[in-house]
Amino acid sequence: MTETIQHDLPPPLDVKINRVAADAESTAGTHDVSMDTIVELCKRRGIIFPSSEIYGGLRGAWDYGPLGAALKDNVKAAWKRNMLQLRDDIVQLDAAILMHPRVWEASGHVAGFTDPLVECTSCNQRWRADHLEPNAKGEVYCPNCGAKDFSEPKQFNLMFRTFVGPTEDTSAQVWMRPETAQAMFVDFAHIQLTSRQKVPFGIAQVGKSFRNEITPRNFIFRVREFEQMEMEFFVRPGTDEQWHDYWIRNRWQWYIDLGMRPENLRIRDHAEDELSHYAKATVDVEYRFPFAWSELEGVANRTDFDLRQHSEFSGKDLSYYDQERDERYLPYVVEPAAGVDRSMLAFLVDAYREEEAPTAKGGVDKRTVLRLHHALAPVKVAVLPLSRNAKLVPTARQVNDVLKRRWATQYDDAGAIGRRYRRQDEIGTPFCVTVDFETVESDQAVTVRDRDTMVQERLPIDRLADYLGEHLTLD
Ligand code: ATP
Repeated sequence: MTETIQHDLPPPLDVKINRVAADAESTAGTHDVSMDTIVELCKRRGIIFPSSEIYGGLRGAWDYGPLGAALKDNVKAAWKRNMLQLRDDIVQLDAAILMHPRVWEASGHVAGFTDPLVECTSCNQRWRADHLEPNAKGEVYCPNCGAKDFSEPKQFNLMFRTFVGPTEDTSAQVWMRPETAQAMFVDFAHIQLTSRQKVPFGIAQVGKSFRNEITPRNFIFRVREFEQMEMEFFVRPGTDEQWHDYWIRNRWQWYIDLGMRPENLRIRDHAEDELSHYAKATVDVEYRFPFAWSELEGVANRTDFDLRQHSEFSGKDLSYYDQERDERYLPYVVEPAAGVDRSMLAFLVDAYREEEAPTAKGGVDKRTVLRLHHALAPVKVAVLPLSRNAKLVPTARQVNDVLKRRWATQYDDAGAIGRRYRRQDEIGTPFCVTVDFETVESDQAVTVRDRDTMVQERLPIDRLADYLGEHLTLD
């Protein structure tokens, strides 16, 4: 019996977190970087830009260009590594975005996934009522035209609807999922059986979700189409509070291990009246964005609400038989639910620095550098021949061909070498390898430059891959 109890409680996790009360001040204070600077950098380097821009864009939708897509992949890979690769008690799911419409009735989304919508009676712009900032006197004005009168708040459902098949009537109506979580609940019994996992165990999923936000804003912070990284951890009722605490600490540490500055991170408890209908307790992992402290991720104790609802609505028994305890119960669920886009924005903001750097001629230059964790950097190594001289190019190409088998590399021979270093700093490339005339004429060695220290080392080409393997921190 003692063994069983130990088996289904979380292991101790000695992680110190900064936990604040529900009503903690949300203003961000002075920040190293403005949102405009980040948006401009992302646009200039093709990292993130408005969707369908040549037609004027679509509000709340963004495209991730080559570097943005790579950075996004790296965020998701780091999450999957933490949730799946390093654990034996979580399995993965890749479920369909379109689900049976009853799912969203059972989950409470059809009735209650709403935000309060008001309309300015003067310019007819629509706003989310709880996002309108009152002034010092507590008065609220339309951010568009400055008028003071609004319609009564209406509850607006955030789910996008569409139709399956050729008829557009209510019998064919389905919803675009507003969260990935529900698939983990409706597939719970099937996955538990086929993966032979025992409670406590988790199901993790990364995928697109859609919310028809009334006022998308703050770049990729609040959008209408986004990606979530969610994990539902099924536990025995009675162990849920310990597991909730465990996952709060685990998730805090994930951001810290990926280089986030602890002073920009905090855990905020939800107030009683802020809790979702399914939650017994929730915290938000918040980041100090330039606009305010805001949610990166929610870690909720969802109780057995979802499994109970789906058992009832589907008529299928989703309870679990715990062999060791000889007990049948509906597991409780602890859910860390993170946003890929929001995490990416936080990692970009946190990594951004403007620094002074010495020039080759002994002067001082300014450089912008993204001090991204190596695991997140879209390019790990840049290979730069000193010039496009025909003597240098074949060797530089060869070096690049060898390195790209192991890491994401970028070959760049356009422009002055100093400018190329700056370009790589700006996208967070940890190492630049330069091929010069000595390389090909005498020593078969290259110069390796470190992004953060800007120290340059001379290394024989045949030591290069080992050196990078030792110096790139990819986990
Ligand atoms: P918010 O209160 O900011 O609307 P939420 O509490 O409704 O967010 P959850 O339902 O807990 O968000 O979703 C989990 C995560 O999904 C959020 O922490 C966030 O990172 C991400 N997310 C939710 N809505 C959006 C959105 N419109 N745009 C980008 N990411 C989002």
